[in-house]
Amino acid sequence: MGKKYEELHKLSRENPDKFWGDIAEEVFWYKKWDNVLDDSNSPFFRWFTGGVTNTCANAIDRWIGKTGEEELPDKSDQPAYIWESPDLGLSRTITYKQLYEEVNEFAGVLKNSGVGKGDRVIIYMPMIPEACVAALACSRIGAIHSIVFAGFSRDSLAFRIDDAKPKLLICADAGYRAGKAVPLKGIVDDALDMASHKPELVIIKDRGLAKPNIVEGRDVFWKDILKEKGEDFVECEKMESTDPLYILYTSGTTGKPKGVLRDTGGHLVALYHSMGSIYDVRDKDVYWAASDIGWVVGHSYIIYGPLFKGLTSIIYEGTPIHPDAGVWFRVIEKYKVNCLFTSPTAFRILKKYPEKDVFGADLSSLRAIFLAGEPLDAPTYKWATKATGNKPIVDHYWQTETGWAILAGHLGTEKVITEETESLPENGFKIKPGSPTWPSWGWELKIVDEEGNEKPAGEKGYLVAMPPTPPGVLLTVYGNDERYIDSYYNDKKFEDNIVYTTGDYAIIDEDGYYYVLGRADEVIKVAGHRLGTREIEEAISSHESVAEVCTIGVADEEKGSVPVAMVVLKPKYDGNDELKKAINNIVRKNVGPIASLHRIEFVTKLPKTRSGKIIRRVIKNLFEDKDVGDLSTIEDPSAVDVVRKAIQGK
Ligand code: AMP
Repeated sequence: MGKKYEELHKLSRENPDKFWGDIAEEVFWYKKWDNVLDDSNSPFFRWFTGGVTNTCANAIDRWIGKTGEEELPDKSDQPAYIWESPDLGLSRTITYKQLYEEVNEFAGVLKNSGVGKGDRVIIYMPMIPEACVAALACSRIGAIHSIVFAGFSRDSLAFRIDDAKPKLLICADAGYRAGKAVPLKGIVDDALDMASHKPELVIIKDRGLAKPNIVEGRDVFWKDILKEKGEDFVECEKMESTDPLYILYTSGTTGKPKGVLRDTGGHLVALYHSMGSIYDVRDKDVYWAASDIGWVVGHSYIIYGPLFKGLTSIIYEGTPIHPDAGVWFRVIEKYKVNCLFTSPTAFRILKKYPEKDVFGADLSSLRAIFLAGEPLDAPTYKWATKATGNKPIVDHYWQTETGWAILAGHLGTEKVITEETESLPENGFKIKPGSPTWPSWGWELKIVDEEGNEKPAGEKGYLVAMPPTPPGVLLTVYGNDERYIDSYYNDKKFEDNIVYTTGDYAIIDEDGYYYVLGRADEVIKVAGHRLGTREIEEAISSHESVAEVCTIGVADEEKGSVPVAMVVLKPKYDGNDELKKAINNIVRKNVGPIASLHRIEFVTKLPKTRSGKIIRRVIKNLFEDKDVGDLSTIEDPSAVDVVRKAIQGK
């Protein structure tokens, strides 16, 4: 293990005040903290209490000399964001100075529309710079943004509107994906019809891609309201470190997504530190997180993290294969990207294309690629290594809740060994395909069995974290402290000891390297995106023909896993292809196209326990052609054959 890493990691656990306190000195505060960590109300950990800062000031103002910190470089003319939309043939560079102007102007719009500190704003936008401007403007005035992935549909958006109760909603006429405009405003209108909460104002960024319907008195175009209410300068709101910055909804094991509530100071310090110590980026580096602002990766490493470090962040609209499969590598060449962050799925998609279609661009600027979101398989790792001419492909593991890595290869702290050697480096970390290496700063992890006993190396168990969780990790579930405890700290395995439950299975090898094996609960990852099977089941159940349903994720070569559904129909219905289509359409409409069902099978019964709980494991194993395992708790064993036959098409 690396000595430097080991020492620092130990310090981060044994003396968090010193470890995080020193790092916090490097960011901007109006007033320094009284306490680095307040754990008096565990497990509601609070970082840098008494500290006063502002996220937007740290992202923008300090790089153009507006915070009075003399020793900092002036980055006024350096690009803060570069927007690239290859399908539309458009790109745009926004310097720190221009970003400052745009964010102030839009902060004026928010302020003059009655939005203030603590008010919520929903952002339902595609990958365009205005989405980042809107988020930064919210953080400037202390409003809490909640970005909703623009691929989510009406019901998902309506739920978030009702839960967050925003004063204002910001959207665009349309996104653009795979050569097609994807209209968004119609979904906003439908969601607002459906929701009980009605925001007073809807701001639409008109891209000229679709003709949005306008509701008089409620809807207004971005350019018009800028003229009317924009300002040249809006003071940054002085935010307590523990004040919320944003809400990001994520799927859990119930039908209702959880609003992950992020703080201001802990998020700032943790992300700032991760840029150097994990991703090894600095100065004027160009950082590209090829994700979407609707996911946590987009929040942390498109909008905020790179700017906290004064880097250039790429905002990419489109897919990895449009207009062709070489487009991503050409973007790296065009903007001399130093660090790319993406998901294994993206590479599994590219891997299907002939090398000549993908390779060829000059990747000499690239120092490393970071992958996260799902387990990294060895063939994809090998392909990525070859594609990049042997650059380090570094796996790291995290969750929406944590905001940054729980496990990572710390490229900025230790030397990386990419060669396939038997021995371990004395200093540095070796890349073991599929292993996100070691715990990040402040994380102490354990792998335990059903009773909470620690598992020996080589044995699979539940991955849990010992308190306190590090800075940047969720404050609570928005508006629902009880659900925060229930979801993350209510593990009956640990009666007297509060432990953060990740919901994942993991294994640690003899060398102390971790492997995350996948979810141990009813959450699935489709192409790296988290979906709750319960959310999909609720959509399916809303179809009039459905009596019972079970949705599970089954292994898929490209997407990691895909949702499939076993449906029991009400007596008078016939299970035909048309009905399958109708059910899938409901899922696409209510949850979103990413939840599209890979397969639907109609059955007469489902395997259940005597207490009536569907045994998902049995269905999953049958789909994946594995042994069904222990059937002692099943009420009606013939249900197994019914499901098996349906899967085999008999
Ligand atoms: P999300 O909150 O959508 O980012 O999903 C978090 C979940 O993604 C984790 O709980 C894991 O199941 C999975 N995950 C994220 N990164 C990795 C990784 N590097 N290896 C394995 N699984 C991962």
